[in-house]
Parts: sequence; C-alpha cells; structure tokens
Amino acid sequence: MGEEKKKKKKERAPRQEMTRQDPKKRIMNFNEVALGYSEETAVIEASRCICCPKPKCVDGCPVLVDIPGFIKLVQERKFVEASKMIKETNVLPAICGRVCPQETQCEIVCVLSKIDKPVAIGRLERFVADYEAAAGEIEMPSKPEPKGKKVGVVGSGPAGLTVAGELAKMGYEVTIFEALHKPGGVLVYGIPEFRLPKAIVAREVDFVKKLGVELKTNFVVGRIATVEELFEQGYEAIFLGLGAGLPWFLNLPGINLVGIYSANEFLTRSNLMKAYLFPEYDTPLKVGEKVVVIGGGNVAMDSVRTSIRLGAKETHIIYRRSRKEMPAREEEIENAEAEGVIFDFLVNPVEFLGDNEGRIRAMKLLRMKLGEPDDSGRRRPIPIEGSEFEYECNTAVIAIGQGPNPLALSTMKTLKLNKWGYIEADWETGKTSMKGVFAGGDIVTGEATVIEAMGFGRRASIAIDKYLTTEEW
Ligand SMILES: Cc1cc2nc3c(=O)[nH]c(=O)nc-3n(C[C@H](O)[C@H](O)[C@H](O)COP(=O)(O)OP(=O)(O)OC[C@H]3O[C@@H](n4cnc5c(N)ncnc54)[C@H](O)[C@@H]3O)c2cc1C
Ligand code: SF4
Repeated sequence: MGEEKKKKKKERAPRQEMTRQDPKKRIMNFNEVALGYSEETAVIEASRCICCPKPKCVDGCPVLVDIPGFIKLVQERKFVEASKMIKETNVLPAICGRVCPQETQCEIVCVLSKIDKPVAIGRLERFVADYEAAAGEIEMPSKPEPKGKKVGVVGSGPAGLTVAGELAKMGYEVTIFEALHKPGGVLVYGIPEFRLPKAIVAREVDFVKKLGVELKTNFVVGRIATVEELFEQGYEAIFLGLGAGLPWFLNLPGINLVGIYSANEFLTRSNLMKAYLFPEYDTPLKVGEKVVVIGGGNVAMDSVRTSIRLGAKETHIIYRRSRKEMPAREEEIENAEAEGVIFDFLVNPVEFLGDNEGRIRAMKLLRMKLGEPDDSGRRRPIPIEGSEFEYECNTAVIAIGQGPNPLALSTMKTLKLNKWGYIEADWETGKTSMKGVFAGGDIVTGEATVIEAMGFGRRASIAIDKYLTTEEW
C-alpha cells in the first residue's frame, strides 16, 4: 500500500458495527437480533464514504439507488431527505437494509473494499428508513397525472410490490392480487420476525398502498380469476410475480414420518400463522429436543434459528458440502453459530427411521467428500460408499430448495416455461411469450434474492410503461 493510501486509511474511522441482542438472551425471544445504528454511528459510518464521482456501488445495486447521494445526506444529518432519495428507486428500503446480501451486491464493489472494509451501505439504508418512520415524517411523492390505464400484478412479494409501486408513481391504476391473507410474500411467510419484524414489512407495504396501489388478498389467480379473465376485466398489462414457493422434498424412505417438516410449512406456521406467539395464537408447531435442519441456505438458517426459539435443546445443520460452499449469507451463518447451532458438514441423509408410533427417531446419514466443481461453481459432493451411520433426532426440517407453484401457470397454456417450470421472460423487460404479460422475481430466476426480485420489478415497470404508451410488443 502506498504512503498516501496508508495515511488516508489511518484517518478513516473503522467500519461501524451494529449492536445486536446478546446470543444468550435472544435465543429466548423472537425479537429482532440486529438493533441498528444510532445517529452518531450512522454519521461516522457515512463519513467513511468518499462519494465517488463514478460510484461502483451503484452498478452493484439492481434497483440503482443513488448510494453516494443518500450517504452524503447522512453525512449532513439530513436523514429524512436521505430516505426520500432512496425511495426514488427503492420502495422497500427498511426491508432491503435488513435482508439484502449487500456483501455480494453494492458493498463488494465499493472502492474502499480494495484497501479497507467497504462502507456499510445496507446498515445506513436501514438507519435512514427507520429514522424517517420513527420521526413520523414519511413523505409521499407528488401525485402523478393519471394515465387512465389499469395494470394487474399477481403476487405481493418484493417483485410485485416494486412493479406496483413504480407504476403507481407513473400514474397507472394498479391492483395487486395476492393468494395469501397477508401481503409481502416470503417477507411475511418465510423470513422470521427476529430477522425482519413484520411491522416493518407492514409499514413498507403501507407505503406502496399510499402510492395508490389497490391490494386484493385471498385472491388466487388461476382459481378466482384467470389471467385471461383479468384482461377481460380491463387490465391492459399483467405482471406475474408468483415466487418459487413449492417446497422440494427428499424422496427417501421414511419421509412421511411424524416430525418431518418442509421448511416452507415450518416457517409459514411460525411466521404467517404466528405459532411463535403460542398460546396467544393457537397454531401448533411442536419441535423435539434434538432438531436437525437439512440444507445450507438462508432458509435452513432461518429454520434452525426458529427451532431454537421454539424450545429445541440441541440444533444441527446437516449439509452435504463444507462451510465454504454454503449459500447462506455469512452474517446468518455467524448468527446461527453464536446461538449454538452445531454444523455437521459432508453428510447427507439416505433414510429416516421411525419409532413404533410413526414418529421420527433417527436418520441414516452417508458421509460425503468433495469432487470437482459442478454447474453452480461449487465443489460437487460425492458419497463415500459404506460410510452410513445412524444419527438420532426428534424433528427434521427439509430446507433443500423450492420450485415454481404450477397453479396459476397451468391455466395459461401459451405461456412458455423453461425445463424447470419457471417462466421464460426477458431479463431486461420481463416480457413473456404472451402479449401483455410480464414476469419477474423468483418465478423467472428460481430462488434468488429480495433485491434481484425488486430489480426485475423495476425494469418490468419501465417496459410496461413503454408497452402501454406505444402499444408495441
Ligand atoms: C426463508 C427464506 C429466507 C430468505 N432470506 C433471504 C434473505 O435474507 N435475503 C434475500 O435477499 N433473500 C432471501 N430469501 C429469498 C427472497 O425472499 C426471494 O428471492 C424473494 O422473496 C422473491 O420475491 P418474489 O416477489 O419473486 O416472490 P415471493 O416473495 O415468493 O412472493 C410471491 C407471492 O406471490 C403469491 N402468489 C403465488 N401464486 C399466486 C397466485 N396464483 N395468485 C395470487 N398470488 C400468488 C404468493 O402467495 C407470494 O405472496 C429468502 C427466502 C426464504 C424462503
Ligand atoms: S463505491 Fe463506496 S466509497 Fe464510493 S460512493 Fe459507493 S459507497 Fe461510497
């Protein structure tokens, strides 16, 4: 490192940590773990940004937030203005500030990361969004000229909320149709309260509603109305943001034993049906003393950390590769480790074993070794023959991924799907094979991230506006 760079590094404050609930206390409650920045910490962290004229961080943000612009406002203590600036391109800042993988998006390309730790962009985003809400100063953009055209959005996850919010800002009459009784998609039924409080999701959904978006819940497209019928009702473009909510199961002997859950069911019962507030809410969600979660992604981390809070005495992650290949965010792996989760690497279940009452009592695991990288770029797990052993457990949660739910898609015969059953849509515009139908988020990409779904939603909103203005497909 050159002398000048060394001097600047010395002058720069270190990256500011966020306070968190103590691991010993937090495993006893479902309250949020990360507690956010204070005003002082936020200003110190913002002062680390050199407000680059050609900011690399913006290239790393799928919704193109003006990152140096909002950070400069934080430096000047103009927190509400900073939040307003973010919302010009991101309608869900408090959510993104909490769950987006900034370490692989905007922060990884921050110029500081070459010489020091990157600016904590996500933590600053969270801070200003929360500050604005706490100050009760949520400002709405000025009302646009109405376009006199209706757009239907199917699904209220991050993709649907973004496309709806952006189109409402342009003056379109937008209705979201949501199958569940609460809007938010994975943000409400998947990600637990201790990582993303539901009041925060409700607040940001409310912002989208205040932009003029109508929300119809308990509305299953493909059952209550088909996409064709929505066109007949006067919607001139439809966006499909259906997500990837159909859990994959392990096709193994014993999979139907009592005490084996899909992560989807486990988390939905806890989050959406409020089993975590038992007995205030009477949804049962029983976990045994020893819980194993099979998988290595964010869904697995959320499931295992939920099971601790539901009373499990011993919790394990069973993963067929090593720690290096785990797809979960590093922060979430560290949180799980701090909460006492035990990680069993390079093992894979081959059978579930039950007791006389049909309850799971153990698994048969096979040891694995790592081979050459596969299509995902991660080293392929290879079974070690004859290495099977029995492993006791009382509850198992399968978190090995989700696929597309075919319900709405089966009613759209001319919609082109790829070989995995996801919708074929143009990355830049979200256009599908059906005229007037756009799609984005997990239903196109497969399981991805909140910000990628939002990026899709944002690009699709521009394409929908163009289509409805020019009528060119
Ligand atoms: C447990 C869990 C933890 C995660 N953690 C993170 C994380 O920390 N960071 C991150 O960036 N990403 C995370 N992800 C991934 C992220 O949540 C998704 O990539 C994102 O939510 C996809 O957004 P979406 O809008 O495409 O779909 P979804 O969020 O899945 O929303 C789709 C919506 O469409 C509705 N719908 C489906 N079919 C119909 C129909 N026929 N009619 C009406 N409505 C319908 C569904 O009910 C749902 O509300 C996580 C995912 C899970 C499951
Ligand atoms: S790249 Fe880093 S230092 Fe430059 S503007 Fe973005 S956050 Fe600030």
